[in-house]
Amino acid sequence: MYLKRLELVGFKSFAERTELEFVPGITAVVGPNGSGKSNISDAIRWVLGEQSAKSLRGAKMEDIIFSGSDSRKAVNYCEVSLTLDNSDEKLKMDFTEVTVTRRVYRSGDSEYYINRQSCRLRDIIELFMDTGVGKEAYSVIGQGRIEEILSTRAEDRRSLFEEAAGIVKYKARKKEAVKKLDETEQNLVRIHDIMSEIEEQMEPLSEQAEKAKAYLRLKDTLTQNEVGLYVRQFDLLHEEWEEMKAQALKLTNEQVECAADINQMDAKIADLRQHASEQDQVLEELQQRLLSVTEEGEKKEGYREVLRERLRNYSKNKQDARSKAVLLQQKQDELRAQVSSFKEQVEQSTEMLTGLEKELQLEQKRYVNYTAFSDGDVERLKRIILKF
Ligand code: ATP
Repeated sequence: MYLKRLELVGFKSFAERTELEFVPGITAVVGPNGSGKSNISDAIRWVLGEQSAKSLRGAKMEDIIFSGSDSRKAVNYCEVSLTLDNSDEKLKMDFTEVTVTRRVYRSGDSEYYINRQSCRLRDIIELFMDTGVGKEAYSVIGQGRIEEILSTRAEDRRSLFEEAAGIVKYKARKKEAVKKLDETEQNLVRIHDIMSEIEEQMEPLSEQAEKAKAYLRLKDTLTQNEVGLYVRQFDLLHEEWEEMKAQALKLTNEQVECAADINQMDAKIADLRQHASEQDQVLEELQQRLLSVTEEGEKKEGYREVLRERLRNYSKNKQDARSKAVLLQQKQDELRAQVSSFKEQVEQSTEMLTGLEKELQLEQKRYVNYTAFSDGDVERLKRIILKF
């Protein structure tokens, strides 16, 4: 088994997707200080399940996500995939190549995959147990750790050698078994306590048990009596139900007959409705005619009133005309009388005028004869002329 490939996306200084291929033999990563060499071993330990942000040289887990640079903005998640050659089947899986992937988001959500299948962190830890590969195993030794391993006490180095010897798995199982044993022992102690408590309660409980038995006997009798009562009630109800059924049958027959009657009635009602509707129509027409006759009558009445009024006016006018005719007759008579009196006057005047003309002719002759009239003659003539 050997490390074949490492892919990093958004992990610390590796903002872009970066793929590192490892071939059998030694691979060295060379670069100036701060160029990101240790970030690679951090990525390997992280993908193998490292949970401590401090041992990844950060304050919190979010610090491993690329936080941005002058030329590139920060990303929201990081992902590391580590591929191991498993041709020797050291890892207990039926694959010649095993890829473990870990992804974390700024929200804190974590995801783990083995060969692109979602899994738990525990599955990854168990997969690498006793293989020498693991976050605490000897395969990954960071800066300064060699010194630590060599200088510290033998007990501190024990975990490293246990991992190499392949007994970590058994130690973990033993630890779990001892834990379970402890829990079982504690449960036993609790059971003993409960038992002694129960023993103390035995006497009062046996009294209670006697009472309970008596109660059960009485309850049995009660149940039997109740059942007898229910049976009796059931019989009564059954008889009642039979009677009801007969009544219901009778009522159903009556209902059928009633329904037939109702149907006949309905038909009759429909006929009557039809007839009533026709009558309504006739009535409607008669009402229309009555209305028009009434209107006509009212018009004629109005016209009769007009004619009466006219007749009254006519009679009055006739009366007036008669009175006027009488007056006119009187006036005509007066005028006739006047005319005849005027005629007489005219005749008299004509006679007088003729006389005067004669006189005038005589005077004219006298005037011609005497050339001029005296002023007294002129005045006298004027008065004579004005008389007419
Ligand atoms: P040295 O030899 O001095 O130990 P190195 O080559 O091992 O250095 P690392 O310590 O692996 O380098 O890398 C440190 C670099 O990684 C620093 O430039 C640091 O800015 C960068 N870095 C660490 N975390 C992040 C992060 N979250 N986002 C961006 N860059 C990061």
